[in-house]
Amino acid sequence: MKFPFSKSESSSENPKYIFVVGGVMSGVGKGVASSSIGKILKAKGFKVTAIKIDPYINVDAGTMNPTEHGEVFVLDDGYETDQDMGNYERFLDESLPQINYMTTGRVYQEIIRRERNLEYGGKNVEVVPDVPLEVIRRIKRAQEEAKADITLVEVGGTIGEYQNIIFLEAARMLKQKHPKDVAVVMVSYVPIPGNIGEMKTKPTQYAARSLNSVGLQADVILARAQVALDEKRKEKIAIFCNIPTEHVISAPDVQSIYDVPGNYEEDGLGDILTDVLSLPKKKTDLSEWNTFVQKSKKATQEVEIAVVGKYFSSGEFVLSDVYISVLEAIKTAAYHLDLKPKITYLSSQDFESGKMELSELDRFGGILVPGGFGSTGVEGKIKVIQYAREKKIPYFGICYGMQLAVIEYARHVAGMKDAHTREISKDTAHPVIDIMESQKDIVEQGNFGGTMRLGTYPCVIREGTVAHTVFGTTEISERHRHRYEVNTDYIEEIEKAGMVFSGKSPNGVLMEIVELPKDVHPFFMGIQSHPEFLSRPLTPHPIFSAFIKAASKK
Ligand code: GLN
Repeated sequence: MKFPFSKSESSSENPKYIFVVGGVMSGVGKGVASSSIGKILKAKGFKVTAIKIDPYINVDAGTMNPTEHGEVFVLDDGYETDQDMGNYERFLDESLPQINYMTTGRVYQEIIRRERNLEYGGKNVEVVPDVPLEVIRRIKRAQEEAKADITLVEVGGTIGEYQNIIFLEAARMLKQKHPKDVAVVMVSYVPIPGNIGEMKTKPTQYAARSLNSVGLQADVILARAQVALDEKRKEKIAIFCNIPTEHVISAPDVQSIYDVPGNYEEDGLGDILTDVLSLPKKKTDLSEWNTFVQKSKKATQEVEIAVVGKYFSSGEFVLSDVYISVLEAIKTAAYHLDLKPKITYLSSQDFESGKMELSELDRFGGILVPGGFGSTGVEGKIKVIQYAREKKIPYFGICYGMQLAVIEYARHVAGMKDAHTREISKDTAHPVIDIMESQKDIVEQGNFGGTMRLGTYPCVIREGTVAHTVFGTTEISERHRHRYEVNTDYIEEIEKAGMVFSGKSPNGVLMEIVELPKDVHPFFMGIQSHPEFLSRPLTPHPIFSAFIKAASKK
């Protein structure tokens, strides 16, 4: 068995790895915990990168329904990943490559490809050790690409699940080879059952033992709970999970996810981890981050934004995770403008069915229609866009939200009553949104995984337009995820009716930004790409800032 690397082969002198695993249950903020650990270590001056492992068979997150799995986050290179990658990028303020994301499907796909190419040299290829070895190989490649001193590896799911065992085995094998270079952080939930009102540590103790049973010992436990842990519970977790008491970090619910790095630092998490990994002690400089966090708390003037989408409901519950990057972009843009964002999720189906009156939109400063697919709720969204246009409520449409704004304008202003997108209506007389030429064969062959127009593409902005003022430049580049586009056959007619195509692909054939002139509407803009993926807490995206500013003036 050949181990993928030895110490001497490492590019960074002695790279370190922190595995973040979940105990008790999922959904307690492992992604934010990993991002915050990354933030702290970066603030100490280490070069940090972060990897997300999702244990499902899907090769990437692109084929999953957002209501199943939350937002699909697109990287610069077009890889469709889990929303946690968005958290890492926002906290680390760095763009990450596709090697930083893996699923069981992706790992097996690579192993099978190599086996078919005789790359295993005639050997038996086995689940153990070949699968964990491939996992380690990928972790190593990510570390090398980033030249990282510290590589965070978040293992999705919960300890004890059958699905992620192979990834925990990779952590164990890596630690066995490099005992001083691997740390394990367990993010565990500590419940306070309503009927007893007391915080219970037993589930965390069981989780720690399950982790032991796969040959791993937690070095640090982040105890996620509604409230802070008292000394007694810290002691209990320490004794029964076999770690020093100060390695039990209290991680209570917070007002904002951006508070988390500061909270961990109060408990000295950064130094604990550098200690465990035998790294030099360094000061943590979170000053810029803290200034942002302070700003976010000071704002008192509210700006009310309606996000009109279709993926909000799951049974009786509202799923705001589906648009998490959009929501974070709105929030952070508002904070930088000293505004307090108040975001309301509205279901487009409710406008379609009449359950909700359009006049309920009057109270909002701005309306945003995010990306989407298919026919559900589309007529509701078009109604909302028409209302925003006619009532001069600031409007921002992203991807589908841009395409539907073009349809709305074509229908109600340019006189093409049945204007539509071919995504929904195959035989409309006015397909103002049509499938991209390059997508026709792909769709016909049913080859859907990872084949949209994905990742970063440039856009040229026309001088003198609103977009030009917003971006302050004529060349931008944004991340994309779509198969349909504005049909160039209709551009002249729609422009004649007053809509402006202010951003185009460099060859001029793909419409990237549409807008209404300033003297017609206070803010009405649609963009084919997803600027939310590039908006960062310390540098909110200009288009979000412009939209929020307009919304605050209404
Ligand atoms: N469904 C549209 C398309 O494929 C929009 C995609 C999106 O909003 N991400 O072009």
